[in-house]
Amino acid sequence: MSNRTFTIVKPDSVRKGNFGKVISRVEAEGFKILGLKKASLSQKQAEGFYAVHRERPFFKDLVKYMTSGPVYVAALERDNAVAHLRKIMGATDPTKADAGTIRKDFGESIEQNAIHGSDSDENAKIEIAFFFAESELM
Ligand code: ATP
Ligand code: MG
Repeated sequence: MSNRTFTIVKPDSVRKGNFGKVISRVEAEGFKILGLKKASLSQKQAEGFYAVHRERPFFKDLVKYMTSGPVYVAALERDNAVAHLRKIMGATDPTKADAGTIRKDFGESIEQNAIHGSDSDENAKIEIAFFFAESELM
């Protein structure tokens, strides 16, 4: 089990001025921020990042949404990092997310759901490498 995961504070959060509130929740859960940057995803980056979903009916809209404004990307460290971040994020659909989760409190819809978190150690590694060189993590 790795102690790293990767997050994106998504465009809806940044647009609404919720970046600070979202990242505070993450820090309050004991995650250390190994690397953090603001980014505007290109269409190619968004398509690549969500390539597993390319056959899904929502893919085109997802790419449009993820390129609709700046995001913050971060590499995070904590014990049980992947599962714990997913737990505090809540379900994909904010209306189905547990009370007190990030998506329940800040998500707009099943698409505009405030935050991304890696779903496995393997994907966390791939996603961190997508945005950060190892030398940028500290
Ligand atoms: P993420 O990968 O962003 O952390 P997730 O793992 O909870 O979210 P996935 O199934 O991987 O959910 O879907 C990736 C993203 O695609 C979702 O976060 C959401 O923005 C969008 N999405 C998922 N399902 C739908 C849907 N049915 N309609 C519209 N958008 C969707
Ligand atoms: Mg996912």
